[in-house]
Amino acid sequence: MFYQIKCSWCGKHMGTKEDAGSDFADKLKSMGLPVISHCICPDCSKKALEDAESNMKRKPQ
Ligand SMILES: [Zn+2]
Repeated sequence: MFYQIKCSWCGKHMGTKEDAGSDFADKLKSMGLPVISHCICPDCSKKALEDAESNMKRKPQ
């Protein structure tokens, strides 16, 4: 059973991940829905980290 992996920030396709399968994934598959696992790509994780850091610096005292 393969999951499609997509970046939840930019929607970039990041390949597939093999999984032993779960009841939830089997249910989606039986309904004809794609099984997609959302994560974050390296570009977006860098950006998210930079944003978080600048937010901390900007924090009002
Ligand atoms: Zn991304």
